[in-house]
Amino acid sequence: MFEKTKKRVHYFGKTKSEGTKEMKELLGGKGANLAEMTSIGLPVPPGFTITTETCAEYNEGGGKLPDGLMKEVHNHMALVEQETGKRFGSEIDPLLMSVRSGAAVSMPGMMDTVLNLGLTDKAMEGLASSSGNRRFALDAYRRLINMFGDVVMGVDHENFEKEFDCLKAKYGASLDTELNEEGLQELVTIYKQVYLEHTGEEFPQDPYLQLEKSIEAVFKSWNIPRAIRYRQINEITGLLGTAVNVQTMVFGNMGEDSGTGVAFTRNPATGENKFYGEFLINAQGEDVVAGIRTPQPVEEMVSWRGDIYQQLLEVKDILENHYREMEDFEFTVERGQLYILQTRTGKRTGVAAVKIAVDMVMESRITEKEALLRVPANDLNQLLLPTFDLNTERDVVTKGLPASPGAAFGKLAFSADEVVDRVHAGETVLLVRKETSPEDVSGMHAAAGILTSTGGMTSHAAVVARGWGKCCVAGAGEIVINEAQRTITVNGRTFTDQDILSIDGTSGEVMAGEVPTQDPQLSGEFATLMEWADHYRELQVWTNADTPNDALRAREYGAEGIGLCRTEHMFFEGERIKDMREMILAKSQTERRAALDKLIPYQRVDFKGIFTAMQGLPVTVRLLDPPLHEFLPHEEHAQVELANRLSVPVERVKTRVVQLHEANPMLGHRGCRLSITYPEILTMQVTAITEAAIECLQEKIDARPEIMIPLVGTYKELQLLREKVEQTIAAVKEAKNYTAPLEIPIGTMIEIPRAALTADQIAEHADFFSFGTNDLTQMTFGYSRDDIASFLPDYLNQEILEKDPFQSLDTVGVGQLVKTAVSKGRGKEKQLKMGICGEHGGDPASIAFCHGVGLNYVSCSPFRVPIARLAASQAAVKNQKEIELLLDTSDEIKVKSTG
Ligand code: PEP
Ligand code: MG
Repeated sequence: MFEKTKKRVHYFGKTKSEGTKEMKELLGGKGANLAEMTSIGLPVPPGFTITTETCAEYNEGGGKLPDGLMKEVHNHMALVEQETGKRFGSEIDPLLMSVRSGAAVSMPGMMDTVLNLGLTDKAMEGLASSSGNRRFALDAYRRLINMFGDVVMGVDHENFEKEFDCLKAKYGASLDTELNEEGLQELVTIYKQVYLEHTGEEFPQDPYLQLEKSIEAVFKSWNIPRAIRYRQINEITGLLGTAVNVQTMVFGNMGEDSGTGVAFTRNPATGENKFYGEFLINAQGEDVVAGIRTPQPVEEMVSWRGDIYQQLLEVKDILENHYREMEDFEFTVERGQLYILQTRTGKRTGVAAVKIAVDMVMESRITEKEALLRVPANDLNQLLLPTFDLNTERDVVTKGLPASPGAAFGKLAFSADEVVDRVHAGETVLLVRKETSPEDVSGMHAAAGILTSTGGMTSHAAVVARGWGKCCVAGAGEIVINEAQRTITVNGRTFTDQDILSIDGTSGEVMAGEVPTQDPQLSGEFATLMEWADHYRELQVWTNADTPNDALRAREYGAEGIGLCRTEHMFFEGERIKDMREMILAKSQTERRAALDKLIPYQRVDFKGIFTAMQGLPVTVRLLDPPLHEFLPHEEHAQVELANRLSVPVERVKTRVVQLHEANPMLGHRGCRLSITYPEILTMQVTAITEAAIECLQEKIDARPEIMIPLVGTYKELQLLREKVEQTIAAVKEAKNYTAPLEIPIGTMIEIPRAALTADQIAEHADFFSFGTNDLTQMTFGYSRDDIASFLPDYLNQEILEKDPFQSLDTVGVGQLVKTAVSKGRGKEKQLKMGICGEHGGDPASIAFCHGVGLNYVSCSPFRVPIARLAASQAAVKNQKEIELLLDTSDEIKVKSTG
């Protein structure tokens, strides 16, 4: 990663600055930027950074500071003393230091900080006289004893807080700031007593001992549970540890000419190019965070100290010009003197990210390529879907998987039919189920949102919802559904069918009541960014769509084809489910053909609609994939109803359901296996596709169908079925007397490991490959895609998995199969068209992999098309090394790119 250096401590100050902003890996983000700001002449209090390598040394050495470290620290403290003209521990005008963590990737508030180091009984007196403010000096001292006790020695903060409350009562003070000098003097004595009681030691009167122990505490905090958990959640891996920043203290609480604040160079919510921030007069940084007092908007500084406001505006310009980025920064004013304590890339909403990136190109600060890399592709979600108003309180009752983004609320409905009825009656409802099945699609479609208690990111509910852009929270395992009582219970709270819940498909949160939403705003900057993305990307972006509406929406979002048209959903609408069921219940091929004949007109209309919506662009129609039992009713009353409608004995329905039951349907009679057993289904579908295409072409609609055969595991399946498809196409052409050119490419999904491993054989019979990475992941890991929610959290918590492999492609394992199939397939047929249509086709990290491995297109749900366009462009403009690292399947431990 970087060379191991001997130098453990890097100085930043007027005399020298030994770091740059590029040294984040070694100095952490905070340290690298403190050095950088010092170098460009900003007023940064001097100090030094102990490297992240030293943290690694500390941990590798079993929790022992490396020999010689404290000597280096002493030497650097001497430099700080020289620069400030103060002495550490002095009884006259003491130098005080802060010790703060700072990893290469920001982990706000996760690790430890100790302030006011260097105060002892004697130094406190020194500070009292040098500041001319004894109350201030006592306050600083009591804060140190408390913080050092808590952070370094593990004395629970409550022990101090309790004493503070007693004393405030005694002195009649309601706020901390109201305790007078006498009270604070007494508090310091009591705090030292608390410290002694809980640690068995006196509070250290040696400032260097304080410093050493604090440095050690920060190193230790790298591995405390909340820091580990934060890295897990944010997928931060591959870091050495935290750096430690030891810096001269400055005080914003030295009187009415002092203050502290936080500012952004532009508005982080909207992206508007306007200085934005807050400050507090006579306060310390922690007071702003603690929310004890409400800070003022930074513009109001004009009426307090106009000169300092002007300086801040200059700092803002210097930072933006230098970093060419929207920065946030912390500042403190000590007795009229401005100091900058930290800067980093400012966090922003998706809307702001797009606006800032485009504006900065217009201002000639950055290039188009840089602008593309500045917007996290997933953040576009926030621009495309309604979201919950961020300013509203949320009563979160539980959390599930953020399966399909968006914001929805409604009363609870427990079955698909109930949803349809209640929506018909004018209600807004959420469909709440353990898991959904294809039978539920009409209710899923009508519902405002979908909430399931089991199921993962590629469960039926999740996939279908994402395809529609419908909000869905899946696998919310704490929810217990009681259908009989029409209630759900979660964490001790019960909700009935009349209660309203809100679900946030972006965070997975489930909230009580109706949380207000706001509509998406597709600004002009969004369109500009998308234009740039299209210019630079090499991958095409297709979509997964099975209705003309979805196809049109995807086209609006820029889709260049349909990579997966799942045909199964088409059989659930209206009358056709009856014909479908009749076909499944057929006793002979003749009966089955008769039922299929009734389905052909429906399918023809379906395909014609989609070909028309996508005219001029390819439409990949996949032949029927799910096991047939999914189309039959499983509840007794529905079985009786079906038997009556078809005028057959109910026993026949029941027997067929039993016959079709499979112990492991995901590995059962599905995909191309259906066409092997029931070739007439294939014939019906291919006939409908060909007839629809011919009708379109005759009406001058440029239909471009492609036929895709699912779940192929051996070339023989494909060879056989391809022949049948070709025969059917030829027969339709002949019957229609159609002689004009009509080429229908026939390809296959690569979704079974064996298919990937034998891709050279399969390529001989395929016009294209489409990687079905949902099934490929399922079969490579051996994880059922519908049952992963029961163990995934444990796998993530115990770091067995870095992330949900159904959400982001496992490039090491599953990716190896993809790579193998690409090279074997292209080895046989150099130009073989290849794409991906599993859920990973909409995931930015997986898209980067697809780019690297040389696929032609990714196909994703309509709402993810803009995200995929941006992600594809990012992969194309990214440093080639990063892409190569992604493709390197030999090493599982990879440093996450932050782009
Ligand atoms: C896949 O398996 O990746 C795929 C796209 O097909 P389905 O999700 O319909 O099984
Ligand atoms: Mg599949």
